[in-house]
Parts: sequence; structure tokens; C-alpha cells
Amino acid sequence: MIIPFFSLALFNCSTKNDPNYDASTTIVKWQNDKKSAVTISFDDGLINQFTSTIPVLNQLQLPATFYVITGKIPGAGKPKFIGRPLADILKESVSPTTSENFFERASAIGFYDEGRAIGYHTRAGELLERGQEEAAMKVIDDGFEILRTGKPSKINDIIYHVNDVDTTTWDDLKKYIADGHEIGSHTVSHPRLSVLDSANMFYELIQSKNDIERYLGKEATFSAECPYGTEYPRVMEAARLVYPSLRNRLFNEDVEEFNRGSQEIPLANTEYIQWQRGILTNTTEDVMESWVDSSLVHNNRWLVLVIHGVDGIGWESKSTQQLETYFKYIKSKEDQVWVATFADVVKYIRERENAKVESFFDNGQIKISLSSTLDPEWYHLPLTLKTLLPKNWEKATITDNETGEIISSTLISSENETFSIVYPVIPGKSVTIKKSN
Ligand SMILES: [Zn+2]
Repeated sequence: MIIPFFSLALFNCSTKNDPNYDASTTIVKWQNDKKSAVTISFDDGLINQFTSTIPVLNQLQLPATFYVITGKIPGAGKPKFIGRPLADILKESVSPTTSENFFERASAIGFYDEGRAIGYHTRAGELLERGQEEAAMKVIDDGFEILRTGKPSKINDIIYHVNDVDTTTWDDLKKYIADGHEIGSHTVSHPRLSVLDSANMFYELIQSKNDIERYLGKEATFSAECPYGTEYPRVMEAARLVYPSLRNRLFNEDVEEFNRGSQEIPLANTEYIQWQRGILTNTTEDVMESWVDSSLVHNNRWLVLVIHGVDGIGWESKSTQQLETYFKYIKSKEDQVWVATFADVVKYIRERENAKVESFFDNGQIKISLSSTLDPEWYHLPLTLKTLLPKNWEKATITDNETGEIISSTLISSENETFSIVYPVIPGKSVTIKKSN
């Protein structure tokens, strides 16, 4: 019979080029199609973060980000004052501080009296960032007066990030990177960058970056945190010239940012929200769990946890046991939450913003190509793509067009008895999806 033969040919033709099938492919919001992202980050490079907390994180296979003060690590550039002789500045300080000499004096004051006058620098910075310039100048005047008259520079502030027990080495940090953690810069000496003059500010930023690059490699210079969670515009403008990303401020159009001091409920409609929450000594497990839970209800939320002291060393300390309880809770949600380093989440968001995915169905195969305008040296994290399969496909294989390797994928059922397939692709690569039995 002629008719069946003819209709069979037609049938073949229509499955291969189904007019109703458009091979639609999207880049999903979070890696592996999770509902939200969580980053666990630690500041100040305190010894217990490494010796007590990392074993717990490793046991649970959770990555974290550690912002370290490089001047504390043997082999790195030490804190130093860049400028005119300190004795000259001290002599001139009989004349009151003005907006002309404020930054030089505020940069220098921490280097007198064996560093014991650093508190005047820190307080001046705090005041300036609150908009109290006059008060900031007065603090510098007070400090210099004490130094000139030879009185010991009375400091009431405890400097939490300075201690003798932080003995971490570059080799230790290299090991933590090999475990899957991120190491980032927290400057050379943890100053209030806002009151440093340009030379000293850039020394703090660039020396720290150069040491990290020298000892840990360029990859570890991707993200940084400027001390005291500052968002002071002059500091942010300088720091973003040195580091591709800052936990302080991301400067991404699609990302609304709520810092760890923010009392606002982050309900913005932007594509992404970076929601920072600080874990303090008194923060309860219930509250910490509620942050994770609420991030699952709003699919644009990236919860960035900020932790300082551990087991009595550092600011606002938590015990390892408390942290372990919380990390186990996060782990229990891992089927829905993408737990990743700060750098990886930034890369994912930026790659997704800049990538273009093209897919078409031809001769029974789906061809997908992912292109990006970003520098591949930094941006080579796989994005997760999701492709709707033709109606009668219940299994499929994905092959990397360049290497011929099979890419692992997850099949998820969609509406109308069709399936979607979810798989990773690095920007710049192309893949082919074929039906399999
Ligand atoms: Zn800090």
C-alpha cells in the first residue's frame, strides 16, 4: 500500500522538525536549579576559624569563604605608613587638624607609640563614615596631643583581630583552598580605609592582593572584604579598581544589596538580592535557621552569612558546637539550597547576566551554544541550563561538542508529559542533546 509508506515518511519528518517544538533553553537562576544560594563567610583570619571550624565544614562537605588580614601571615608585606617622616607630622600636629591634613594624620597616627595609638585612627574612621567630620578631626587632635606630650596613648578599644595566636601560614591557606574553600583579602592591617590618604589606602589594598596572588594564585584575588563592612563611597571606588568583587558592595545592576546591619526586610523585586546577616554571640539558632528558610520562599535570595570570632577568639564569638549545629541545618537543606563560596556565586550571577544561549532542533538533535562577553580567565564557572525536550523523549544524552565527553544531567518531568533536562555548561562551550533509549 502506498498510503502507509507515505504517512510514515511524513511522520518521520514531523518528529524531527516538530513545528510545535522550539528547543527552548534557559539559564536557571541558581546552579543546579536550586531555590536559593547561601555563602558562609568568615572575617579577620582568626586561628580557630581554621583549626576548629574547617574540620566541621569539611566533614559536612560545605565550602566557605575566609577573608584574611595578610599582614599577619609570615612572608607578606607588613603594615606600614607611606609618606613623610613620622617625626615631622608629629611636630606639625601642634597646629589643629584641618581637612587638608586630616587624611595624612589619620593614616600616620597608628604608627606611633608602637602601634598603640591605632584606636584614634579607628575612631576617626568610624566618625567620618557617620558624617561627623569635625568630631573625627578632634579625635586626631586628641591623639596627637597625647603623643606629643609623651603620655602613653590610652586605648580602651580591644582590637579583636590583633593577637599572638593567629599563626596561620600560606601553606595552611593553600590546603584550605584545596579543600574547596575560598581565601580572600581583608587588607594588610584591617584599617578604617575611609580615613587613609590614597597612597596608604592603595598600599592596604594592593599589597594584600599581591601577596595573595604570589602565595595562593590569581584565582584567590577575585573577592575581598574591606574592614568594618564599610560602604564608604571613596573606599568602594578605590577597592573595586583592585578586586573584581567586594562583599561590601557588588555594583551589579541585577543585585539589590542588604548589608549585615540592615533592618529592612529584603523584599525587592530585583533579579537577585544579596542578603547579608551577621552571626553574633547572641544570635539564636532559631533566628539563623529562619534566614535559610525565608531564602527558600523567595527564589531571588542569596544569603551571605558573616562570622567573626570562634571559641573565644575574635569579635562576637560563637562556639564550634553552635556553628556545627547551624551548618548541619544548612546541609539538611542542600537539596534546595546552593551552598557556595562568595566568588562562585558572584561568578554565576555575572555569567548569567552576560551569557547568551542559543538552541535549535535539527535532524533529531538539539544543538546548544553558550557564549559570554566576560573574561574567561575569571569567568569559567559552569552555568546550569535547562532545555525542554521534544514530546516523546524520555531519556537523552548530552555531549560536549569539543571533547566528545558525556555531560551528566538530571531529567525532570514538565507539564503535558514532556521532560526537561538540566545540565552544566561552561560559557564559550557548545553541546548536543540526543534522544537515548
Ligand atoms: Zn574585619
